[in-house]
Amino acid sequence: MPLQQQYPDTFSFHYVMGLRFRLALSYVLFFGLLLIIVGFAMRGLLSSIIDREIRGVLEEEWVAVKGYMRIENRRPSWTFERYDPEEREIIDRLRNGAFMVAAEDGTILDMSSTYKALGPDKPAEIREAIKGNRPNWMVRIDDYGYPYTLRAGVVYDQQHRPYYLVVGKPVAEYQNTIDIFTRNYFALIPVALVVSGLLGWLLARRALQPLNDVAAAAKHMTGSNLKVEIPLRGANDELERLIESFNAMSARLASSFEQMRQFSTDVSHELRTPLTAIRGQLEVALFTAQTTDQYRDAMFNALQDVEQLSNIVRALLLLSQAESGQLVLQMAPLRIAAVVEDISEQFQLSAEEQKITLTIRIDDAEAMVRADRTQIVRLLTNLLSNAVKYTQPGGSVEVHQRTEGSEVVLSVRDTGMGIPAENLPHVFDRFYRVRPAHTHPAQGLGLGLSFVDWIVKAHHGRIAVESELGKGTTFTVHLPVAEANSSRPSETGQHIVPPSVSGSHQVYRQ
Ligand code: ADP
Repeated sequence: MPLQQQYPDTFSFHYVMGLRFRLALSYVLFFGLLLIIVGFAMRGLLSSIIDREIRGVLEEEWVAVKGYMRIENRRPSWTFERYDPEEREIIDRLRNGAFMVAAEDGTILDMSSTYKALGPDKPAEIREAIKGNRPNWMVRIDDYGYPYTLRAGVVYDQQHRPYYLVVGKPVAEYQNTIDIFTRNYFALIPVALVVSGLLGWLLARRALQPLNDVAAAAKHMTGSNLKVEIPLRGANDELERLIESFNAMSARLASSFEQMRQFSTDVSHELRTPLTAIRGQLEVALFTAQTTDQYRDAMFNALQDVEQLSNIVRALLLLSQAESGQLVLQMAPLRIAAVVEDISEQFQLSAEEQKITLTIRIDDAEAMVRADRTQIVRLLTNLLSNAVKYTQPGGSVEVHQRTEGSEVVLSVRDTGMGIPAENLPHVFDRFYRVRPAHTHPAQGLGLGLSFVDWIVKAHHGRIAVESELGKGTTFTVHLPVAEANSSRPSETGQHIVPPSVSGSHQVYRQ
């Protein structure tokens, strides 16, 4: 069922609310943190730019004061072109600003009233500064609490006597700019967070929609409707892969379920046939048989059907144990040629009876595999019994064992009736029989090859079948060669196990 219609929002609310909320919240928190960090960084940057600006201006003013101030005999005076309005304005501005000039012994010679509010320098400090003779930058707060940046340095009079000159500038107006920026910036953060929160909420909804679809689809899966398909969005992302996996899982579940259903139908069918026969024989015994021989016959036939019934049950039990992983494999190094010879010998008699030539060809008598002997015997027995069963008198069966690269290859080839191409892919399915049961009396339950397939997979091998109708069939089994360090086997191939795995049992699942 394609899931075209998206499920109502209430669904997403119940199932993904938590995740959606967390996603949006983390987005907001992260964004908020980022904004705060950026705010502080910009504030720092702005302060450093402004500080550099103030120092630049102050340096110019200091140089201007130094130029306009003449000091003679410890008496400083401003020299400028009195009738030049521009110069007058500059001098007025400088004199109204913060400045101070002191002599070498620490006596203050001149000082503006603005500077006085900053607290005059101590004579010792002045003497020290003159001795140091290098430009000095300071920050000082005046009596009213306003911060000033000061530029101090040494100047000389005509007689080359040093004086201490300090020029200051209030930083309040610059500070104001930074404060306004900071206030506005941080006031905007909550707005940005609300907007980003809304955006995050909407984005999270979009991003999580595929999860909603998967959850909704999973909810709509029932025993009778396991094949649910969520349409792909065409985005090559993780969620797309989740949807693909989900679709694949639902397809697998549907097919397993279908197999199970088919299996139970087949089993009931298989059990019904001998049961009906037994019932028929018992009815004969009860209602129509008169003589002892007739009773005996009926009972004998019923017993044969009971035997068939128990064969079916035994085979089913074995297969279910194998498929549920309960069948423990006794893995050990095994010389495969020995098993091939053993089993082929056992079939020699029945082959001769049916006028079939059975030959064995062993190319690599020493080839070893790690395997459970009982299962390998079962595998070969099934393949050989089929080959003999489905080959007409005068035909031949050949078992060929060889090594190809890192694999031991076993093939069973017959010149029998063959399998039609359309049936070939199904021969390993449970209860699959190529021909209707009545057309070929020798046909079994259709379980033999499914068991062979399981054994091969449990031994990490693979099996292939080739067939031509009327000409014959070849089953080829590839098994991995045992590790070189495996101990050489005994004839039965069961005993010697490498110490590291000694006594261990391996369980293989299909
Ligand atoms: P069965 O017990 O019926 O032989 P299998 O699972 O062993 O069941 O085989 C499935 C079907 O495949 C058989 O019913 C038979 O029709 C077909 N088949 C298997 N082996 C051969 C073969 N060597 N030649 C022709 N048909 C075969």
